[in-house]
Amino acid sequence: VPGVETVRVAMTAEKRGRKIIAIGSGKGGVGKSTLSANLAVALKRMGRKVGLVDADIYGPSQARLLSTEGMRPTAQGQKMDPVMSPHGVPMLSMAQLVKPGQAIAWRGPMAANALGQLIDAEWGDVDLLILDLPPGTGDVQLTMVQKYKPAGAIIVSTPQDLALIDATRAIDFFNQAHVPVIGMVENMAGYACPHCGEVSDPFGQGGAQAAAMSMNLPFLGRVPLDIGIRTASDAGLPPATQDGDTIFAPLAAKIADWL
Ligand code: ADP
Repeated sequence: VPGVETVRVAMTAEKRGRKIIAIGSGKGGVGKSTLSANLAVALKRMGRKVGLVDADIYGPSQARLLSTEGMRPTAQGQKMDPVMSPHGVPMLSMAQLVKPGQAIAWRGPMAANALGQLIDAEWGDVDLLILDLPPGTGDVQLTMVQKYKPAGAIIVSTPQDLALIDATRAIDFFNQAHVPVIGMVENMAGYACPHCGEVSDPFGQGGAQAAAMSMNLPFLGRVPLDIGIRTASDAGLPPATQDGDTIFAPLAAKIADWL
């Protein structure tokens, strides 16, 4: 009976005291995975026992971001053991279960089931799971909120109207599911030209902050559009691994305070 199972799983998670923080967005490509990876690393550097689940079943990118490509999880009985990223964050992603570049052509229920296996893995003493959600409000998101009830959600958006409209939908989704929205993060705001230093705003500026205000949500902060963030991400070295990180560490501190 699904209802009974839901209660059992929720109780197990609660007994362990493991909290899930979902990172969501309305649109793809707005930096949700980048933020998830960097928040996990920054929280780890703050001493939190944090793990990461890449719930973007169809387009997983965390294995690249956290340098775990090619690592295969082992299994203990029915449960998978997460793989350990070189940055100290245990993680699981569909990318660990399929061949590189292999398309995952699954219908919703299979994807939702796969998400369950990633979340119900053997996470050991991890008490905080960062969940990198796929964009939108489909089967995977529904299973996640119904079965695994996150403690809170963070919504990432770029500053332009089209992304913000979709972000508003994601917020509405979490509101309907009674998952508290911790706040909004604006990504790709402000681009400093590497040649002349002039700051421009390809996607506009301040849109997410204004949207957060209008919805009475906390605005957690801004991540600039920075070539360094892109190249570091592609290299599997999240900027939050660096001592001089002044972007992601403050965001992680706000989340730790919220918890
Ligand atoms: P999503 O998870 O929302 O689909 P990603 O985190 O995969 O988005 O980001 C999409 C692309 O944009 C990636 O190539 C990533 O490196 C890049 N990117 C994300 N945020 C920034 C940023 N602030 N500055 C530069 N590039 C970024």
